[in-house]
Amino acid sequence: MKEESCYICGKKPLEKNEIGLNKKLLGSKVTKFYCYECLAEYLEVDTEFLFAKIEEFKDRSCTLFL
Ligand SMILES: [Zn+2]
Repeated sequence: MKEESCYICGKKPLEKNEIGLNKKLLGSKVTKFYCYECLAEYLEVDTEFLFAKIEEFKDRSCTLFL
């Protein structure tokens, strides 16, 4: 499996949940991925919001999340 790195800060490897969140929030065809911190900044939310989103997706048994 290819290792993704953050498009902004270069952090790698990104966690499965980070990648899943990128796909959920930015669209499944995204080619650039953001880590939690950079994604939060990009979307103008805080990381708590992102973690809450992950829990929400997990509850719906989304396969993109662990
Ligand atoms: Zn980053």
